[in-house]
Amino acid sequence: MTHSKRPDWPHSVSQALVTPIQPSVVYRAGSPDDLDAQYDGQTQGFTYAREGHPNAVALAQMIDRLEEAQGGIVTGSGMAAVSAVLMGCLSRGDHVIGGDQLYGRSLRLLQQDLPRLGIDTSLADSTDVEAIRAALRPETRMILIEIVSNPTLRLADFQGLVTLAREAGVLLVVDNTFTTPLAVKPLTMGADIVIHSVTKLMAGHSDATLGYVAAKDPAIATQINDLAVTMGLTASPFDCWLAERGLLSFNLRFERAQANARALADSLAELPGMKRVIYPGRPDHPDHNRAAQLLGENPGNLVSFEIEGGRDQANALVRACPQIAFAPTLGDVATTLSHAASSSHRALSPQARADIGITEGFFRISVGIEPVEQLQQGFADAVAAARA
Ligand SMILES: *Cc1c(COP(=O)(O)O)cnc(C)c1O
Repeated sequence: MTHSKRPDWPHSVSQALVTPIQPSVVYRAGSPDDLDAQYDGQTQGFTYAREGHPNAVALAQMIDRLEEAQGGIVTGSGMAAVSAVLMGCLSRGDHVIGGDQLYGRSLRLLQQDLPRLGIDTSLADSTDVEAIRAALRPETRMILIEIVSNPTLRLADFQGLVTLAREAGVLLVVDNTFTTPLAVKPLTMGADIVIHSVTKLMAGHSDATLGYVAAKDPAIATQINDLAVTMGLTASPFDCWLAERGLLSFNLRFERAQANARALADSLAELPGMKRVIYPGRPDHPDHNRAAQLLGENPGNLVSFEIEGGRDQANALVRACPQIAFAPTLGDVATTLSHAASSSHRALSPQARADIGITEGFFRISVGIEPVEQLQQGFADAVAAARA
């Protein structure tokens, strides 16, 4: 049986610079009394990885600092974080309002899963505080928004919604994935709960699937954490470790990607055959003033654009830029291109897509950190190929 005895960790008087990965599922306690003390919160310690582990806590603390939050938790995906908030805070008979351009799976959760559990939902345009107000009911408990919508990059009336949520006594929840705490720190501006898909810009390398959630009210934070632990929405230690490494360069990646996005948006707008370019940092953006006020110098790394034509032109464009990954995600170090009609918005009818301005010629770019000239040339060639 000696082969199954675990070795002792080699001793070193000097300390490792890097955070270790701790994959242990379980932790040994000294005695039943010691364990009791731990469960009662008199002593601090881990017991079982689903309940919490060092790599998740270390990562959560890093994101807490960025968001100016306290006691945030890391979950196994962004959707685990969204689910933990909705299911941890709402009960049968409650009503929740979601922005009508939320992330696709969040919409699905609101429209299909919550109603099955007796929680009523409404969707409304979060750029228009009156539309959200009109959806309020006496039993409304929560408003869930994203500040920048996908893929049309419209800006929610965040300040207006903070006021509305306070007046109505409902929780305001912000999925801050697109904007990141470098542009907006929702909890400091009046939101009650902030959510992230850490998978995207924060981890930044498309190799870890993770989420994060923090609530201002400790009682609500406990409800969310309990639900996450019970349902097993826990993150993997290795993914947390990868995300920690990614976060160390988050500022630099974001600054570079955003500078690239700004320059790329301007050059796209000059191309023949370009119908429109959507970038919150451009004066021709429909919510430019709100973007300037809310995002300041940080309009982000997402740029959407629309070319003339249908699916044939869209195929030609993608095929003409093989060096840019055509992949339905965002926030990678490298630039990725996505096409709403065939991915995020494929479930909608062409008419429903047209109603929100999404045609076959509509693309979203998640701009990465490559040399910007390379991106500008790549897209110039691709847009030209779609016209040929
Ligand atoms: C990707 C994404 C999610 C879901 O995150 P996962 O980590 O993929 O589960 C939620 N909200 C937004 C805005 C996203 O972009």
